Amino acid sequence: MRPSLRRSIRLSAAAASLAPALLAAQQRPGQQPGPAIPAALQAERREDPRAAPARREGDGPFGRLVIRGATLIDGTGAPPRGPVDIVVEQNRIVDIVSVGYPMVPIDSARRPRGGNREINAAGMYVMPGFVDLHVHQGTTVKAAESEYYNKLWMGHGITTVRGVPFASFDYSMKEKARSAKNEITAPRYWVYQRPGSGWDRGPVRNAEQARDWVRWLAQNGGDGLKVGAEEPSVMAALMDEAKKLGLGTTAHLQQTGVAQMNADEATRLGLGTITHFYGLFEAMYENNSVQPKGEKWNALLRKFRERDVTLDPTMVAYLTSRDMFHHMGASWHQKYTLPTLWDYYTPSRTNHGSYWFYWTTADEVNWRNFYRVWMEFLNDYKNMGGRVSASSDAGFIYNTPGFSTIQEMELLQEAGFHPLEVLRSATYHPAETLVKPKGAPLDFGVVRIGTLADMAIVDQNPLENLKVLYGNGALKLNDRTGKPEQVGSVRWTIKDGIVYDARQLMADVAKMVDDQRRQRPASDAIRPR
Ligand SMILES: [Zn+2]
Repeated sequence: MRPSLRRSIRLSAAAASLAPALLAAQQRPGQQPGPAIPAALQAERREDPRAAPARREGDGPFGRLVIRGATLIDGTGAPPRGPVDIVVEQNRIVDIVSVGYPMVPIDSARRPRGGNREINAAGMYVMPGFVDLHVHQGTTVKAAESEYYNKLWMGHGITTVRGVPFASFDYSMKEKARSAKNEITAPRYWVYQRPGSGWDRGPVRNAEQARDWVRWLAQNGGDGLKVGAEEPSVMAALMDEAKKLGLGTTAHLQQTGVAQMNADEATRLGLGTITHFYGLFEAMYENNSVQPKGEKWNALLRKFRERDVTLDPTMVAYLTSRDMFHHMGASWHQKYTLPTLWDYYTPSRTNHGSYWFYWTTADEVNWRNFYRVWMEFLNDYKNMGGRVSASSDAGFIYNTPGFSTIQEMELLQEAGFHPLEVLRSATYHPAETLVKPKGAPLDFGVVRIGTLADMAIVDQNPLENLKVLYGNGALKLNDRTGKPEQVGSVRWTIKDGIVYDARQLMADVAKMVDDQRRQRPASDAIRPR
């Protein structure tokens, strides 16, 4: 046994506090009903950010949009190919035409006819719009405007997000509908809610209530369930009913419930996605430690594979734990992190995830050792054909939305994923995770003829360097001028055939941050100036 490993596994308890606060926010029992809205729902809605403003951004959809001369990374893990011309009619990809060979002038006779909008993407890379399976909005204390989240996501090429939850059920469903109609500048919303949220009958405490609530959720249009490590009979009822009704499931198996409900137990009952790492390693304990590559390790991986489980690690969520000063000082905070959000991150006994009471070298060493084991598990699962998704859980722990999703991609590369596998984890695999429980066709997360026109276009090669996907680009020395430059950042984000200037969306975010700072600077002295 490696002592350092035993200690590093144990520290997962350090972040256990992440679950109960959310639960508490969702279910505040004991409040008296108000005159119009029941108390439980009032409490839920109090957390809601302001709904997004009517859409002013984006052009289209077009009768015929042609993206010319791009290199295509289709999201399936297949190698890039190009140059291709991609034809979009309204919100669908109707043709992908190979128009020649790399480095060879394109024969214009092979090209599809012109459209009423053309994008010259010569030298650029087209990918499916990214899919983040773990996001939140709210609370108003952190960022009062949902526009802030939406533009950070769209500015990073993220065209689908699963809110677990975004905020209250009502808010989430309304914004989902508005986004589906493109009335707002926002990714597609998939609404996953905590048991008991949305209805007026309070918390779910037994199997019967669990089934009733899942039926209620399905009838009211929810896409799935975000659960914790529920009491076993409740968990069994939730999973069984969700499966019958075609709803997806994801769980944050918080330590307080893991003694009765670890990742093995939960997936045996039908859980579809395990987010974070809670309950994973507890399912493999031998005397309170884990032996990588041991029999339990391999057996659990095999069971996950048989049960078609998606692992949604959100490694980025704990990245600050591994190197606090580095992540507090990330290059984007100054320009893109709201002072209110920054203040929320700063050490606090009450703010969710702000556990920097006295962060030590030993804490960081333990976390680094833990990441090695965690990454090995994820890479093993990927290598046996399992789905691992690139999600962020941003808005806590010095993680700014959009940027965090790209950081998660970098972490997957660190875990041993080839960049093509990383991009698959950010597109095809999470899309599959969303549509499979519903039995719906795979209509996004891949660039192929017939799918929705959701794409991200970047003018640098993301396979060479994932950093070019950051909203503030990657740093590169220009050897001609001898000066460093910011290169990349997503150039265009296309959702439903509507073309958004991703850099303008980032500029809008920067302005929101600037405006807030003038009225309300961060109160924390350690914010970079
Ligand atoms: Zn979360």
